[in-house]
Amino acid sequence: MLDGKSAIVTGSTSGIGLGIARAFAAAGADVMLNGFGQPGEIEATRAMLQRQYGVKVLHSGADMSRPEQIRAMAAEAAEAFGHVDIVVNNAGIQHVAPVDQFPDEQWDRIVAINLSSAFHLIKAVVPQMRARRFGRIVNIASAHGLTASPFKSAYVAAKHGMVGLTKTVAIELAEFGITANTICPGYVKTPLVEAQIADQAKAHGISPEAVVRDVMLAHQARKEFVRVDELAALAVFLASDAAASMTATALAMDGGWTQH
Ligand code: NAD
Repeated sequence: MLDGKSAIVTGSTSGIGLGIARAFAAAGADVMLNGFGQPGEIEATRAMLQRQYGVKVLHSGADMSRPEQIRAMAAEAAEAFGHVDIVVNNAGIQHVAPVDQFPDEQWDRIVAINLSSAFHLIKAVVPQMRARRFGRIVNIASAHGLTASPFKSAYVAAKHGMVGLTKTVAIELAEFGITANTICPGYVKTPLVEAQIADQAKAHGISPEAVVRDVMLAHQARKEFVRVDELAALAVFLASDAAASMTATALAMDGGWTQH
């Protein structure tokens, strides 16, 4: 489905990003992984994907809070693959605290990593996408790009911003064969969410089990976490030729949460 294409997936050493990178490689795309972790583990993942799917797989340790590192990653991918057809802006962090106690530096980091990084990467790759008249921008927001929850001021603001950025870019670039869409997942049991269970228990003053039942899955009508492979399949579709007319959308995959 993606033979001959090349992709950058930010935040792909773990969770949703890794699932999307794996699905892209399986569909035939060369992939630039990005993100932090144990160097040995990252190299083992990179080599395994490359061997298993017979595509080029690289890793960039670029910090998504640093625009110059984002530009360098984009240049490295273009050099190694010849072009960049697909970018998935997925890197993200979370911090949960009441707004009047929300640390300034956490606000700044969340806005930088969850929102501004997408602007910088899009800006870096668009000129060559426009020249080749093909591009797929897939931005991972959240159900929190469409609705709010308490104690997540920075995250909800950044994710709503991601939806707005995506719509704007989509409309600007529609005539050049470039699409931009946002995926808005409900809760997915990744390391990001595992860490939040303890934080939320503290913020709400309830047990970790109650956080999963009464906070995380309270509005998710299906009462199950969304799976990484479901999100990865949607990302592959959005990156494919079959999704050429699908642009500027914010697609919820949230077990019904945002329709409550
Ligand atoms: P995760 O913690 O498993 O993975 C996050 C990835 O981002 C890792 O690869 C990490 O190394 C990378 N990363 C973090 N800071 C970075 C930085 N400064 N520079 C480069 N890479 C960095 O998280 P996840 O749950 O897979 O989340 C991925 C995305 O999906 C995030 O944007 C998150 O907001 C969004 N999301 C997650 C859920 C969920 O329930 N897990 C729901 C909705 C949206």
